[in-house]
Amino acid sequence: MKEQVKQPEREPCPHAKKCGGCQLQNMSYERQLEWKQAKVINQIGRYCKVEKIIGMDNPYNYRNKVQAAFGRDGKGKIISGVYQSSSHRIVSVDKCMIEDKTADKIIVTIRKMLPEFKLTAYDERTCQGFLRHVLVKRGFATNEVMVVLVTSTPIFKNQKPFLKKLLELHPEITTVVLNVNDKFTSLVLGKQEKVLFGKGYIEDICCGCRFRISAKSFYQINPVQTEKLYSTAVDYAHLSGSETVLDAYCGIGTIGMVASRKAGKVAGVELNADAVKDAIYNAKLNDIKNCWFTCADAGQFMERMAAEGESADVVFMDPPRAGSDNKFLGSLIHMGPKRVVYISCNPETLARDLGVLTKGGYKALRAQPVDMFPHTNHIECVVELIRQKQ
Ligand code: SAH
Repeated sequence: MKEQVKQPEREPCPHAKKCGGCQLQNMSYERQLEWKQAKVINQIGRYCKVEKIIGMDNPYNYRNKVQAAFGRDGKGKIISGVYQSSSHRIVSVDKCMIEDKTADKIIVTIRKMLPEFKLTAYDERTCQGFLRHVLVKRGFATNEVMVVLVTSTPIFKNQKPFLKKLLELHPEITTVVLNVNDKFTSLVLGKQEKVLFGKGYIEDICCGCRFRISAKSFYQINPVQTEKLYSTAVDYAHLSGSETVLDAYCGIGTIGMVASRKAGKVAGVELNADAVKDAIYNAKLNDIKNCWFTCADAGQFMERMAAEGESADVVFMDPPRAGSDNKFLGSLIHMGPKRVVYISCNPETLARDLGVLTKGGYKALRAQPVDMFPHTNHIECVVELIRQKQ
């Protein structure tokens, strides 16, 4: 059957061809949701029922974290934007339909200000120049705005007058952080960090909890959909108030803390030390006394728990795109929690891991896709699993 091609809902993005970030933008939003639904069914439909994907009412400007690479075009003019798909050429982008508008404006202002303050953009070929990237994070619920200037050196010419002018033009900025990345790398952030203005982090509110977010910590990029994602995850955990819960790959502790109101105690494990510091701080900030956090590889942590004969009633797991690993999954099966809630941002690795868990005695009951990344081909999904046999 010939596929019916629907018209896109708005003017196509002028950067579409070069940027490659919004792979689905030629489809209407409705069609995108159908496409994602079919993809999830195709990947994991053999394991369980797939509920109807939860879409957004307004699928634009949803990204609370915006990153721009800085460089120069052929004529030497400073440009900022995104890397052309599968290359390191910068596509100049001032406005993007999925990014936070405030963040986009701040980035353009910074680019325009550079020559006036005799600051240069970094050149990847020669490793010369000052500003490599600008990262902006905004708390949609608190309106706090963090600007991270990623530079090749800690020596910041005209720092004071530059900051003064930036803050005059954008009084909404609540903190500015300098991050030094002097390595030849495609990673955006370097190790060294210095707070130039404000408290060095922002806070946001999600599912009734307040969270501190640092420059380097992971925080879900679509706050509207995150509320729906987390509520589904907690719902799938069927907590009654007494359970021991593990929040694996916990980031700044969000899922565990939201679940902690309905649980006995929660242990969180996360590899990124900055995120763990945020998680510990966040528990205090919310006066939550039944959550503990450990900085470790989730697989090693699980192995240790299993070896010490410890267990949990419910395990939330929210690994990165690569999915979990055999160390983690093997120990999980060995520990045998009653219920596992798997939050995944990649249906392919989810399908692979569900294969392992199913063989290990778990049964997937249902899956709920949530559209966290409209117009892109990324898919988020929550799966409820129960232990069938010991
Ligand atoms: N659950 C959190 C974070 C999910 S993102 C949230 O909803 O915000 C995945 C997290 O896994 C990231 O914070 C990343 O730093 C962490 N991570 C990646 N590999 C890990 C590993 N091997 N062990 C523990 N955490 C890991």
